[in-house]
Amino acid sequence: MTRTGRDVLISGASIAGPALAYWLHRAGYAVTVVEKAGALRGGGYPVDIRGTAIEVVRRMGILPGLRDAHIDSRRLTFLDADGGKVASLTPGAVSGGVEGQDLEVRRGDLAASLYAAVRDDVEFLFGDFVDVLDEHENGVDVTFRSGRRRTFDLIVGADGMHSRTRESLFGPEERFHRYLGYCFAIFTLPNTFGLSREVMMWNSPGKAAALYAVGDDDDLHGFLNFHRPGPPLDVPRNPGAQRDLVASAFAGAGWEVVAAMVDAMRDADDLFFDTAGQIRMPHWSRGRVALVGDAAYAPSFLTGQGSSLALAGAYMLANSLATHGDHPAAFAAYERDLRPFVAMNQALVDNGAATLFPTTERALEQRDRRLRDLLTLPAAPARPAHSALTLPEFAPTR
Ligand SMILES: Cc1cc2nc3c(=O)[nH]c(=O)nc-3n(C[C@H](O)[C@H](O)[C@H](O)COP(=O)(O)OP(=O)(O)OC[C@H]3O[C@@H](n4cnc5c(N)ncnc54)[C@H](O)[C@@H]3O)c2cc1C
Repeated sequence: MTRTGRDVLISGASIAGPALAYWLHRAGYAVTVVEKAGALRGGGYPVDIRGTAIEVVRRMGILPGLRDAHIDSRRLTFLDADGGKVASLTPGAVSGGVEGQDLEVRRGDLAASLYAAVRDDVEFLFGDFVDVLDEHENGVDVTFRSGRRRTFDLIVGADGMHSRTRESLFGPEERFHRYLGYCFAIFTLPNTFGLSREVMMWNSPGKAAALYAVGDDDDLHGFLNFHRPGPPLDVPRNPGAQRDLVASAFAGAGWEVVAAMVDAMRDADDLFFDTAGQIRMPHWSRGRVALVGDAAYAPSFLTGQGSSLALAGAYMLANSLATHGDHPAAFAAYERDLRPFVAMNQALVDNGAATLFPTTERALEQRDRRLRDLLTLPAAPARPAHSALTLPEFAPTR
């Protein structure tokens, strides 16, 4: 057995990339991170860090800072098709999280905190990306879009759901993408509704509109989600067509705020449109290249577990590389040890069956009944899937 060398290139600097960089540095690797965006991408919607992932950030020493950044939403209010109140609950009662332990932070705050933990120890190349990977017996020759050329021992794709690393190695996304029956748009809009640290969610069968007030800020996150049995392959991938698709799905909604949200979506300069889906792959590595986070096993926002899987996956991959001297054994151990955790979390949602987004009148009635019951019943226990992985002690530096 030959030991694999220690120069690693990570593609993507969001959640999985910097977390992996931190742990690989701890294991004695020389790490370079390349990020397509010109700088660390800030802002964005709130994300959850739960269960096993809390232990990852604790071991990184960033838990206190993230506790300070915790959003601590006060309530989640559900409205019926006419805008009437169905129930108002604490967010933990709905998400299956553990109140007082699990965290909800702005995605940008989590990315910044991970980056701050590693930026002095790792080389970051912003505004560039991998153009060509050429693997050979002794490493991988990389040509970057900027024209820069380097050779690394290992490459890790942490470049998200629509990973270019995955596509270049394993083929088109369609092979691995499991559509979950919904399309969604997120955007910011002015807080003209007087909301503060709370979420307001309107539902009609197959449609949901949510307003998310992260703080007492002036801006809200707007979220429009609708059921569509098949992916919108016929809709051109441009913002104009996507805006039209969303607007037509919500035409005639019974609550006037939804119409105002559709108008705000049309004006928004930060519209993000996508389909809800998962990435499911038979293998997460090939040769000297591996995938981590959404690139390998995106669970979809419907599970609320994307960031947690990215954090736990980064830890497990780095630990496998630190434990096993050669990459084939390390990549095999990474898959073997992490896959059951990923499978449990991906199984939290099924096509068209997300708890918060019922697609039929009957399913919506049942959901509303369950929500009202939550008002009188004791809080549900935490979801086992969130904590189903016990982290091994981190292997000593090689
Ligand atoms: C609406 C919405 C709500 C969500 N809510 C939650 C939630 O409540 N809880 C939760 O845990 N998760 C949530 N998620 C998911 C979560 O944001 C992701 O699962 C998580 O960020 C995964 O991190 P990642 O680092 O693997 O990928 P990403 O965060 O997607 O990062 C990929 C990075 O790679 C970069 N990149 C892309 N292509 C290239 C390239 N070719 N070369 C170099 N860099 C590249 C990108 O710029 C980006 O910085 C939500 C997602 C959405 C869309």
